[in-house]
Amino acid sequence: MQYYSTNGQAPVADLKKAVVKGLAEDRGLYMPERIEKLPKAFFDNMKDMSFQDIAYNVAANFFGEDVDLDGLQELVYDTLQFDCPVVKVEDNIYALELFHGPTLAFKDVGARFMARLLRYFLQQGSADCDNTAADKTVNVLVATSGDTGSAVANGFLGVEGIHVYVLYPKGKVSPIQECQFTTLGQNITAIEVDGVFDDCQALVKSAFMDEELNRHMRLTSANSINVARFLPQAFYYFNACARLASHLSPLTSDIVVCVPSGNFGNICSALFGHEMGLPVKRFIAANNANDVFYQYLRTGRYEPKASIQTLANAMDVGDPSNFARIQNLYSDNGQFSAEETHRRITSLISGATYSDEQIAETMRQCYSETGYILDPHGACGYRALKEQLRPGEIGVFCETAHPAKFKEKVDQILGTDIEIPARLKAFMEGEKQSVEMTNDFADFKRYLMSR
Ligand SMILES: *Cc1c(COP(=O)(O)O)cnc(C)c1O
Repeated sequence: MQYYSTNGQAPVADLKKAVVKGLAEDRGLYMPERIEKLPKAFFDNMKDMSFQDIAYNVAANFFGEDVDLDGLQELVYDTLQFDCPVVKVEDNIYALELFHGPTLAFKDVGARFMARLLRYFLQQGSADCDNTAADKTVNVLVATSGDTGSAVANGFLGVEGIHVYVLYPKGKVSPIQECQFTTLGQNITAIEVDGVFDDCQALVKSAFMDEELNRHMRLTSANSINVARFLPQAFYYFNACARLASHLSPLTSDIVVCVPSGNFGNICSALFGHEMGLPVKRFIAANNANDVFYQYLRTGRYEPKASIQTLANAMDVGDPSNFARIQNLYSDNGQFSAEETHRRITSLISGATYSDEQIAETMRQCYSETGYILDPHGACGYRALKEQLRPGEIGVFCETAHPAKFKEKVDQILGTDIEIPARLKAFMEGEKQSVEMTNDFADFKRYLMSR
């Protein structure tokens, strides 16, 4: 399968190059040249299949030309060592719990899958799309405000041939999040930057653009711009439809999927799933106060802004990178006009935006009426369904974080004392190791050049 750039100015790449490079030469995002429908037999049998088997079928549809099928099956099974249940919250509304992975983040699936795919390509011999760098080790740089760093660090932990540098803003990630990437050691280095998240992101971007550094070492990114990180999230949505079948009989065709969104990687994978025949009628992208996509749906104009800090901080994104993919998908790579593309997008996807007060109010309402504890991100998804679900429809929202990851906020809002799962506690017992760094690129470069 070939991958083209959303900016249209870079040569097409094969999967290996798209995964190793992350971003195309023209700074565009890679898109698969085709999205095949899955066969009818798959949909007929789906409800009797395990999460792993469903995921393997979906993965084979995307990656089957580029990864041998035995290898791919092993990779998928190795990635999905946990469950992804659909839980009934109230009549017609279900939570798709995406937080049962190793760091209790839905990003675990994409991060682990990417780590294993990269290892697969490295083991095959030369990942030779960028062989100016002397050393064969692939260095993954990732800037994080919390969740991405822990998922990527744990996904890549102990993977031979890969070293991960996690850059995070000193004092600005929660203690639970921090210990999930600073206590690991091995091939994971945590870099504590004296600055804010935007400084971390700027350091990573400068590193990718620095020619001398790129001759010295092979660099790649593990943000949701990488096809190997965002596409595997489509597994979740096929699994959701399959698990819903055990709650509903017959399985209605009126399923509405609502995704709390920040960089739009997760919902983008669901939309790719829809192109593969996922039996979902329409989608809702739920936002916090960062409403750039919501405004696009209303006006047809995409106007990125600086991000605003909210209770649902993993969705504090003012210029969602995967918007470029959504636009490219529904313009059919530029075949449709901006107006027609907007019409196609709004006919399938609606939006929602909520203030911190509304998020807190929704958490309290849901808890008192149903007993279900929402985290601030999932609360946006639940509320959007409550407001927008039409008679006869069945709504599924993604619960993207375990509430214990936001324990202080959740307890304060709900008056609870929720338990921290053992897996999280274990991280909190490790010893913190990090490298202190200024927010000056010259310092960061000097550090990397000495490695
Ligand atoms: C990353 C994240 C999101 C947003 O997902 P995107 O793919 O960036 O849209 C939502 N909730 C939580 C808890 C997250 O960690």
